[in-house]
Amino acid sequence: MRPAAFLLLVATATSLEAQNPVRTADPAVRGVPLTAFPRFVKLSDKVYGYEEIRQPGFTTVSLVVIGRNGVLVADGQGSVQATQTMLDKIKTLSPLPVKWYVVGSDHGDHTAGNSVLPKDIQFIVHANSLAQLKKDSAAAAAANRPAIVMPGAAMTSDTETIDLGGISVRVRFLGRAHTGGDLMVEVPSEKLLFMSEAYLNRVFPAMRSAYGAEWIRTIDNALALTNVDRFIPGHGFIEEAKVSREELIAFRESLVAVIAEVKRLKAAGLTVDQAIAQVNWGPYAKWFLAEQQSPIAIRRLWTELDGASK
Ligand SMILES: [Zn+2]
Repeated sequence: MRPAAFLLLVATATSLEAQNPVRTADPAVRGVPLTAFPRFVKLSDKVYGYEEIRQPGFTTVSLVVIGRNGVLVADGQGSVQATQTMLDKIKTLSPLPVKWYVVGSDHGDHTAGNSVLPKDIQFIVHANSLAQLKKDSAAAAAANRPAIVMPGAAMTSDTETIDLGGISVRVRFLGRAHTGGDLMVEVPSEKLLFMSEAYLNRVFPAMRSAYGAEWIRTIDNALALTNVDRFIPGHGFIEEAKVSREELIAFRESLVAVIAEVKRLKAAGLTVDQAIAQVNWGPYAKWFLAEQQSPIAIRRLWTELDGASK
């Protein structure tokens, strides 16, 4: 094949991915080779999504916003090495220091690399996540595991605006969802909202520490933001604006369906172990991580339906 013809084929494949993406969290099904990661997805001149692969083979997404006074990062990656790689790659976008870090999710697959963040970085964290990180930190110390990087004070209201110089972000708490301290980052000038793990794109609802019913209301609060066109997930692929809204609604529907199925099994008088054996997730059985997350979701929702999740 002549080089020119080969280049044309490559260009077509890339634009096909952008124009008509396969709706999946699985890179192989999407048609993206694992060698493409980590990669930036340019959202505007000053805002980038960062997609990195974690086990078992789907993306963890961070957000990078570049102002005149410094760089803001929302969510890190799942290991020291992965977060260091991200920081190195951010240097190719801007020579400015990373000054702000938003704890969108306090889970380890987003925070375990935080020891390589600049020491004077300013954390923005919800009180619920700060409390969780304190517990995790004590547990890590007791087990002689590496220390957990602790943010300073928690935010004192549900909204905090940060001026990065020439661009500002609005950190928002729209309700409990995947962790209880779920923070989102709105970039009003670009009409986008990074939702961290409150939005899992085509990933089965991961509920280890979730608040099922409240999660649905939190997504409704995000969908109701009139100035947002594009929703960025914490796992799964970053989509164009129209698809991102459709997929956020699809994820909301998956939460509704998962909760309804657990309610059905509970109402049928099953034990939780019988429910785990007999559950029927319908189309969601094919979503990424379904097999692994299924019993976790059932146990967590069982507790929630018993009124024991606080
Ligand atoms: Zn998580």
